[in-house]
Amino acid sequence: MPRIGESLRDLTFSTAALDRRADRRVEPDLIPRLLVDPATRVVEVRGDRAAVRPGGDGGPSLVTRPPRVGDEDGLVIYLGTAVDGGGPTDGEGPAYVAVVRLEEAEPTEEWRTLRQVGADLDAVDAAVWVAAQGVANWHRVHGFCPRCGQPTEVAQAGWVRRCPADESLHFPRTDPAVIMAVVDEDDRLLLARGRGFNTIGMSVLAGFVEPGETLAAAVAREVKEEVGLDVTDVTYLGDQPWPFPSSLMVGFRARARGGRVRMQESEIEAVRWFSREELLAAIAAGELAISPRVSIARRLIEDWFGGPVDSPEVSLRRR
Ligand SMILES: [Zn+2]
Repeated sequence: MPRIGESLRDLTFSTAALDRRADRRVEPDLIPRLLVDPATRVVEVRGDRAAVRPGGDGGPSLVTRPPRVGDEDGLVIYLGTAVDGGGPTDGEGPAYVAVVRLEEAEPTEEWRTLRQVGADLDAVDAAVWVAAQGVANWHRVHGFCPRCGQPTEVAQAGWVRRCPADESLHFPRTDPAVIMAVVDEDDRLLLARGRGFNTIGMSVLAGFVEPGETLAAAVAREVKEEVGLDVTDVTYLGDQPWPFPSSLMVGFRARARGGRVRMQESEIEAVRWFSREELLAAIAAGELAISPRVSIARRLIEDWFGGPVDSPEVSLRRR
């Protein structure tokens, strides 16, 4: 699978480890047949959680199991087969199927969230879960037809909802968002603390793309709105599916043209320019934690820094 940007190599959730086999979704009775095949690998998703086996040296892994009676009562999604060694498979590998229960599992050592363990899963487990979670999140809030309000039905192996009243088809949504490492003329990095962040948490700026807007225009608009700066040299670095609940984070570097920072106080609590030395010093002093390892935000910061940054692993959002 070609990669457009090489800067953020092996970004979590962004490796092409799953051959989705979209062609199979319209096969008659695909799900019933897979649910009686003992070779099928079922991943159970309960709300935002899935069962995870604690790792030894290889890190944690997603629990898969053969189908069992009752799976057909859940929302069942055909996910595809694992890609072996970089190329699409011939479709002969075991099929991955998600069985989704919309009610949240109790948080335990076993039932974890993708945010918690995503960075430590192997590429296939991460790709399987990120696809399952994204589609599950969409089903959770799209039970009714946006045209006529009737309850819709699941179709095409979990990838479509169909309205029985007007026969309209509805497809899973992805909401693009831009996320950008803004640097100044001295190559310092701008970090901000959003409202509701952990008191030491800071990250790069981000925001949703609006209708009718290009990605580069969204970068420029968000930076202007949030910190009052004009940017130039907007460069794409990579992108990451982020199913919390349904984003695609598209990562950029951008250069500030100078001028003074003016915070948008309704959204931002603090803004600061960091040199590399200042970033390390603030972390060492316990005054700063940057975005967790699972996120493209962390990788954008590390891309600017020039290597891994050791930061306490905290959730930026206060809950
Ligand atoms: Zn309808």
